[in-house]
Amino acid sequence: MSATFQPKCCTRCGSTFEPTGAAAKFCPECRPEAVRERVRRNVAAWRKADPERDREARRRWRVGRKLRDAQA
Ligand SMILES: [Zn+2]
Repeated sequence: MSATFQPKCCTRCGSTFEPTGAAAKFCPECRPEAVRERVRRNVAAWRKADPERDREARRRWRVGRKLRDAQA
């Protein structure tokens, strides 16, 4: 069974595309960028909600990078 969806308008660029799922909102061209934007927003909200955890996560990330650089 292959469900076909009505062509939709991309909510980002407005072009018509064949959705790959019922919840698809973006055309294939916009999808990667739309996902990146959503991640950015999530990260921003998360940082605002919990600055202490964000500091800790950044510190760990820096240390991890230093270790990787040292190994390289
Ligand atoms: Zn688009």
